[in-house]
Amino acid sequence: MTRQYDHFIDGKWVAPAEGAYFESTNPATLEVLYQAARGSKADVDAAVDAARSAFENPLWRDLSQTKRGHLLRRLGDLVGEHADELARMETEDNGKLLREMRGQLATLPEYLYYYAGLADKVQGSQVPTMNPAILNYTQREPLGVVGAITPWNSPLTLTTSKLAPALAAGNTIVIKPSEYTSRTILRFAELTVEAGFPDGVVNVVTGMGAEAGAALVDHPDIAKISFTGSTATGSAIAASAASRFIGCTLELGGKSPNIVFEDANIANAAMGVVAGIFAAAGQTCIAGSRVFAHRSVYDELLEKVAERAKRIVIGNPIEDTTELGPLAFAAQQEKVGSYVELGVSEGAKVLTGGGRPDVELPGYFYAPTVLTGVDNSMRVVREEIFGPVAAIMPFDTEEEVLRLANDTQYGLAAGVWTQNLARAHRMSRRLEAGTVWVNTYRAMSPMSPRQGFKNSGVGIEHGLESMHEYTRLKSIWINTDEGPVADPFVMR
Ligand code: NAD
Repeated sequence: MTRQYDHFIDGKWVAPAEGAYFESTNPATLEVLYQAARGSKADVDAAVDAARSAFENPLWRDLSQTKRGHLLRRLGDLVGEHADELARMETEDNGKLLREMRGQLATLPEYLYYYAGLADKVQGSQVPTMNPAILNYTQREPLGVVGAITPWNSPLTLTTSKLAPALAAGNTIVIKPSEYTSRTILRFAELTVEAGFPDGVVNVVTGMGAEAGAALVDHPDIAKISFTGSTATGSAIAASAASRFIGCTLELGGKSPNIVFEDANIANAAMGVVAGIFAAAGQTCIAGSRVFAHRSVYDELLEKVAERAKRIVIGNPIEDTTELGPLAFAAQQEKVGSYVELGVSEGAKVLTGGGRPDVELPGYFYAPTVLTGVDNSMRVVREEIFGPVAAIMPFDTEEEVLRLANDTQYGLAAGVWTQNLARAHRMSRRLEAGTVWVNTYRAMSPMSPRQGFKNSGVGIEHGLESMHEYTRLKSIWINTDEGPVADPFVMR
């Protein structure tokens, strides 16, 4: 018997109003892991009501900012204590390598500690006035109930990036995790209660995007939506939020360029290309899926990347020796396969990979794939594949590669490999991407602000700046002059 999970609302397990559940399977072994509640509008209503009551409850509303920080710190400790359990759960759910998940879980408490430290630094300031008798100051307030909607590729980290600043600022939250990865978020919510957050501060409604997700986005009591997922869904969410004038933070898709200059350390650059596109089987928003290599080092880079790609150990992500696990679900495997076929029909050559590898497990595996003979006009180079597929292209000049790198609807991240310091700065300045890495790829920390440019997002996650996403600014004017009002028709 597999476990059946209900929603987590107001600190309790709550059965779905319509009584429906759906299965979640292990994408490597295809075994059924658990059933999760299939949320409906009624469940979302209950969760938002609980979050709204918790927001107004003095237990939370009047808790000092310092104490909010203590709770986040305690949650960080608990996540650390349960790291192995959470890492395994997520690996089983989405096929991410256990060793990568162990790494993520080692840093996840640091996200919570970082925001714990920021909780009592949310403050306004005194503002100069034209009239010395008037005192004007600002205060930063929480927004209310935040709706957080997250994808399946890094559920715990991406949820924490929303939950930690939202709670540090004094909001309450309703989370709708991806239908492919409900379990770790439910366990995480349980830990928030163990950490001492009052009931209703953190709520989770599981289910489908078009059902529970859409109901959450459209709920009139939601003060803000924080979403990570595809650009198409983000666009629909932004339209709904705009119609009600509520804010949204959107972290969306990417098609990031990874650029290797002739003066780079080619061995390191090749490993950077491999990390950029084959880590997590390419299922990362920041995947360096468009690789540009200077023509003079193109062959050498190609050979090194292809050689490493062929040696990648594919298998069960739970094993320590595995380097590439499965794609997260069947449709994802079909999508990657059909993009590679499309690329070939557009004229691409498959240098390595290009199909299901020879793995004994029945899961949704796809071989690390390198495409050559491609250019920026092909759909396989323009659209996000979200799989282990690298398109490698030569270039001749810096101006040319800048133009090609920026010729995309996306602007999430970019990599530059060069030993020329001036070029590194020049490229960083001119690349249209919210994150630029030089001689590294995939570096990330809660301290560093992250913003998707162009169709890759709206708003900022991480860093000091992210706190402003979860607060509103109020301007307060106090008249310190008790004398008679000289002229009621003239502004003071
Ligand atoms: P998705 O947009 O299909 O789903 C994301 C979440 O939105 C899920 O919880 C889903 O149930 C929900 N959803 C779907 N339709 C909805 C609707 N109409 N209303 C409300 N919610 C809805 O994305 P995905 O396939 O789960 O994730 C992969 C995508 O996420 C990729 O495009 C990837 O680039 C992006 N991503 C971006 C970042 C970033 O930081 N920029 C990080 C990770 C993933």
